Amino acid sequence: MQIIDGKLVSAALRESVKQKIQAIKLQNGGKSIGLAVILVGDDPASQVYVRNKMRACDEVGMYSRLVKLPADSTFEQVAAEIEALNADPDITGMILQLPLPKHLSEEKLVDLIAPQKDVDGCTYGQKGRLWTGRDSLVACTPLGVMRLLEYYNIPLEGKHAVVIGRSNLVGKPLAQLLLNKNCTVTVCHSRTSDLAAVARQADILCVAIGKAKFVTADMVKDGAVVIDVGMDRDEQGKLCGDVDFASVAEKCSYITPVPGGVGPMTVTMLISNTLDAYLMQNPSIN
Ligand code: NAP
Repeated sequence: MQIIDGKLVSAALRESVKQKIQAIKLQNGGKSIGLAVILVGDDPASQVYVRNKMRACDEVGMYSRLVKLPADSTFEQVAAEIEALNADPDITGMILQLPLPKHLSEEKLVDLIAPQKDVDGCTYGQKGRLWTGRDSLVACTPLGVMRLLEYYNIPLEGKHAVVIGRSNLVGKPLAQLLLNKNCTVTVCHSRTSDLAAVARQADILCVAIGKAKFVTADMVKDGAVVIDVGMDRDEQGKLCGDVDFASVAEKCSYITPVPGGVGPMTVTMLISNTLDAYLMQNPSIN
């Protein structure tokens, strides 16, 4: 069994993004590539996530801007900020940090982001591109999973991939990415009958449900590749995944640990997506 080391892959990708940004700056006279993050309210977890994103930008030489709005901002006020960033030439990509305060419609606001600046892959425009197999900006966590599989040269074509979880953020885009790589894909959810039997058929088992240590060894085929997206807390309050690592690791060929597997990839894919967005917006730069 081999552990898929998300920290290692993430560091390698960040270095590569950094070098490409330096090269682009030389080519375009120093014009920066910029990421804007809109944070509405003061949710403590969101503040930590936003800080990590800004720090990652600094690390790779990417310009970043935090747009902080009060928790009681109206829909129109947030919409106006998104429109201003859509029109701002210094901003290559933006994300609206979720969750938003309850009175604001995430769906309606997210969809005001210009698709070419949607570096979180959450607008209908980018999702449509993904669904139709075109080049697209893809949600960072599922994209990070694909980069891990790629880095470890794990064959995908013709393999049976089972994705447990069908959220718009993780499960659905991940299933589509695997399908685009010619996997045969089964998507499971809370109402799947005999989930264990379906999971046991997987060559590649991806789990994103948010339930600590839910997938146990009896649900995994010998030699399967197991990708654990979950970020949960065990009975002692310790960070763990959706997979019972100790028992499953003995059975599979590859496995992502939690922490240190999929988690470190998410912010890295955000800066990588921002670089990709810049290249899509500036086809003359290569
Ligand atoms: P979510 O929106 O709550 O979706 C959970 C999905 O799991 C739903 O589709 C649900 O089915 C399914 N599910 C729940 N219980 C199930 C069960 N007993 N059997 C089968 N399916 C079940 O969660 P999410 O946003 O996708 O996140 C999933 C996990 O990934 C969480 O632990 C989250 O913290 C983690 N996560 C990690 C990262 C990262 O950077 N590493 C990023 C995002 C999320 P229904 O649709 O039928 O309700």
